[in-house]
Amino acid sequence: MKVLVLGAGQLARMMSLAGAPLNISISAYDVNSDSIVHPLTQQNLGKGLANAIADADVVTAEFEHIPLTVLAQCQQSGKFLPGETAIKAGGDRRLEKQLLDDAGVRSAAYHIVNVEADFNHAITTLGLPLVFKSALAGYDGKGQWRLKRAEDAAEVWQQISAFLAADENQSIVAEQFIPFQREVSLIGARRANGEVKVYPLTENHHVNGVLSVSLAVPGNEQLQQQAQAMFTAVANKLNYVGVLAIEFFDVDGELLVNEIAPRVHNSGHWTQQGADVCQFEQHLRAVCDMPLGNCELVRPSLMVNILGEDKVPEAILSISGVHLHWYGKSKRPGRKMGHINLSAANNSELKARFEQLISLLSPAAFPELQLMANRLN
Ligand code: ATP
Ligand code: MG
Ligand code: MG
Repeated sequence: MKVLVLGAGQLARMMSLAGAPLNISISAYDVNSDSIVHPLTQQNLGKGLANAIADADVVTAEFEHIPLTVLAQCQQSGKFLPGETAIKAGGDRRLEKQLLDDAGVRSAAYHIVNVEADFNHAITTLGLPLVFKSALAGYDGKGQWRLKRAEDAAEVWQQISAFLAADENQSIVAEQFIPFQREVSLIGARRANGEVKVYPLTENHHVNGVLSVSLAVPGNEQLQQQAQAMFTAVANKLNYVGVLAIEFFDVDGELLVNEIAPRVHNSGHWTQQGADVCQFEQHLRAVCDMPLGNCELVRPSLMVNILGEDKVPEAILSISGVHLHWYGKSKRPGRKMGHINLSAANNSELKARFEQLISLLSPAAFPELQLMANRLN
C-alpha cells in the first residue's frame, strides 16, 4: 500500500518507520514548500500534489493546519482519511466546539468573539477567569490570552482586536478557565466498519504551554470508561477512520474535553515501546482498512520530549528501557527535536529508571522532571 501524508514532520517520519514491516510505504507532502519529500531523509521527490494523490492508495494527514484548497483536492480523490471534515474540525476551534456540542460531550463553556460586544458578552455570561484562543492556527499554547481580572479587560481586548484585524478569517473562542487537577489524553483508532480501540489514558505535563512528559496511566476504570465513551461519541459523529487524539481536563474525576487532534499525537509516542501496536502502525492499519491491533499497555511507560536541544548525553542509552527517537530536524529554541521513551516492568522500577534518566539530563533543559517522577508512586 502507498500512503500519502499531508505534512512532512516527525509524525510522518514515525508513520514511515511503523509502516515498513507491513509493506506500507509513506510519502510526505510538505505544505510549506508545496513539494513531495521523503519522510525520513526530507529529500525532495519533485512531483506535484496532484500526481502524488493519483499515485497513492490512501491520503492522510499528520497535522490539521492545512490550506482549505489542499483539503478539498484530497477530499475529491475519495482516498482521504479521516477526511476533510475531521481535519477542519481539528484546525478550527469554532468547528471543534460545534462538533463537541453535536456529539454531546462536555467541554469548557464558550463564546465566539469577533467584535468588542462579543468580548464583553463573554465576560458577563461566562465570568472570569477566561482563556481566549485563536480559532485558527493555534498549537503549543500559541495564540492564547488569559484574562483574570476585570481591570485588565481593556488591555486584553486591545491585543485581541489587533490580532483579529490582521486576518479576516480569524475569530477568538473565549472559554471558561477550568480549574483542573491534571490533564489526560486518550489516543484511539476507529476503523471504517465502526470498530473502536483505545489505549490507556495518558497523563500529560506541559511546560510553558508545550508538552513535556506523558505518562501512561492504566488502571482507573471509571476515568477510562468516561474517556472512551466521549471518544466513541466524537469518532462516530465524524464517521472517523484513523487514529484520533482527545485531550481532557480531569476535574475531580469528571472529564471535560479540551481539544481534539485528528491524527497521531505527541502524547501517544510512549506506545512505540509501551504497547503491542504503536499509534503510528495503528493509524496506518485503520486508514488501510486492516484489523486494528492490541492497545493494551505491555509495560509501564512514559515519554519525555526533547525541546530545543539536538544532543543528550549518550550515557542515557545505557539505562535499561530507554529508547531515543530523534526527528532529524535542525535546532531551534523550543522546537520539538526528539523524544525519549522509557519503560520498565513495574512502576517502582520505572520511577528508579526515570530518576536515573533525570540525573543524566541537564536539569536546566528539562525542568520539572523530578516533580513528575514523584507522581510515580
Ligand atoms: P496543543 O499543542 O496541545 O495543540 P494548543 O495550542 O492547541 O496546544 P490548548 O491545548 O487548547 O492549546 O491549550 C494549551 C494548554 O493551556 C492546555 O494544555 C491547558 O494546560 C491550558 N488551557 C487551555 N484551555 C484551558 C481552559 N479552558 N482552562 C484552563 N486551562 C486551559
Ligand atoms: Mg491544539
Ligand atoms: Mg492541546
